[in-house]
Amino acid sequence: MKPRIARICTDNPDGRMPKTKDQRPATEQPSTRIGYGFDSHEFRPGIPLKIGGITLQHDMGLGGHSDGDVLLHAITDALLGAIAAPDIGALFPPSDPKWKGADSVIFLREALKRVHDAGYGVANVDASLILAAPKIGPHAAAIRTRVAGLLGVHSDCVGLKAKTPEGLNLDNAAIAHVVVLLENVKPSRKAAPRKKR
Ligand code: MG
Repeated sequence: MKPRIARICTDNPDGRMPKTKDQRPATEQPSTRIGYGFDSHEFRPGIPLKIGGITLQHDMGLGGHSDGDVLLHAITDALLGAIAAPDIGALFPPSDPKWKGADSVIFLREALKRVHDAGYGVANVDASLILAAPKIGPHAAAIRTRVAGLLGVHSDCVGLKAKTPEGLNLDNAAIAHVVVLLENVKPSRKAAPRKKR
């Protein structure tokens, strides 16, 4: 099989790479796409701690306009970024009272719908959580299972590592970094049919 880059170049008589997506046939989508998401939230007393769609026992929760689920927010942005869609802040603006206290599962499901509409499925996700407390280890399996269920993948396709913010002076915050790999599963619903010659 020829590398994809060679096929794209062959499509161009002058042999140069296309400058924009519009210069290649709409039905020719990349077979894979990668997305990256980042988020951080501050710990605040008196609210539940939601991470990865589950509630953890802790004396503080993560503040935010929604439920503050730092991991689901980063996954949502990674999904949206992979298909070059508007980010979570653009789709669900904190200025909109509609999203006050919202379950972040809503955001993730909208991002996943957009991924599917674009013709992609999730291959795997890898996440790093950075927080001083609580310990994530005892909850990691439950978080991975929950995230896998939300994404429609097996739990062995959801990686989760937890680190403490040593040397960062960030003990009052939780941070999430996420990468996601998408694979092309069908033609995009938005893709125009190829013209017959
Ligand atoms: Mg957030």
